[in-house]
Amino acid sequence: MLVVMKHNASEEQIGGVVGTIRDMGYDARPIPGGQRTAVGLIGNDGRVDAARLQGLEGVLEVIPVTHAYKQVSREWREEDTRVVLGNGTVVGGAEIVVMAGPCAVEGEREIIEIAQRVRERGATVLRGGAYKPRTSPYAFQGLGKDGLAYLAKARQETGLAVVTEALDPDGADLVAEYADIIQIGARNMQNYALLKRAGRTGKPVLLKRGMSATIEEFLLAAEYVLAEGNDDVILCERGVRSFDTHTRNLLDLAAIPVVQSLSHLPIIADPSHGTGLRSKVTPMGRAAVAAGAHGLLVEVHQDPPRAKSDGAQSLYPEQFAELMEQIGMIARAIGRELTPPLSVAGSAS
Ligand code: PEP
Ligand code: MN
Repeated sequence: MLVVMKHNASEEQIGGVVGTIRDMGYDARPIPGGQRTAVGLIGNDGRVDAARLQGLEGVLEVIPVTHAYKQVSREWREEDTRVVLGNGTVVGGAEIVVMAGPCAVEGEREIIEIAQRVRERGATVLRGGAYKPRTSPYAFQGLGKDGLAYLAKARQETGLAVVTEALDPDGADLVAEYADIIQIGARNMQNYALLKRAGRTGKPVLLKRGMSATIEEFLLAAEYVLAEGNDDVILCERGVRSFDTHTRNLLDLAAIPVVQSLSHLPIIADPSHGTGLRSKVTPMGRAAVAAGAHGLLVEVHQDPPRAKSDGAQSLYPEQFAELMEQIGMIARAIGRELTPPLSVAGSAS
């Protein structure tokens, strides 16, 4: 439930609403906006006496939030959420953000080299898994804590912000110490203990859509993070299971405008996992930008045939350069721009 304040409501009147909601046994969250301030009532169990709130001074109207997800919805917050990263990159604004790097961190020298290469071509965020959720227990599982340390070193050398995956709640705390964004992967989208712990770290969270999750389930998973008081969630469409075997997944591009109409959270696309095929990554990256994505997450490797994971969908650095050029043109065609490249190396946060 949302208590919308009058345009000229005073701080005291807003405080009065917050106090009353707390007296009623619920949490209250002031939400300042460009046009109006609203106060969100959290934890509505259907027994809230709306008339009591409607009668308070400075209140314009009390509106129910009709969706199952509350804080994630556009009803709760009209304006787009902008997630600001340590190196100044903003996800969710007019500029399109590119996060690029290998599927997995494979070594210190390797991650620093690829970080430099994607940075030169305009990426502002470095991706790379230190903990890998592999389908087979015998496949490369990642370098663990060493991988996190190498990512931090790459950030220091290049100024790129870092996104990397956490697989379990304790891992979320550890990743939060090293990374700018905690990635929650498709397989863990409904791991509620992980979502809660990641929310509590206060670090931005990149939440990937589960491979058979509906958009409603996706947004409810994000709600778990916001319910912990962490609004910095970036959603990521990475493809869903389909009946066709020509691509690894079916990149659901319609999810981008659908999510944007339902939620204020930024949404980016991952054409690498979305297709599983190097030759299809650039076309679908272009399409995702045209569809209005706030950014892309792309796998790039200096020697894809030798990659320890996801080589078949990893771009060569030259192909990444081409992708950046092409999405720059698409962005301009729809009145947007790519995030400007980082100018000074070593400007780490
Ligand atoms: C990844 O980003 O490397 C990854 C494992 O992605 P997903 O969770 O989308 O499969
Ligand atoms: Mn991967």
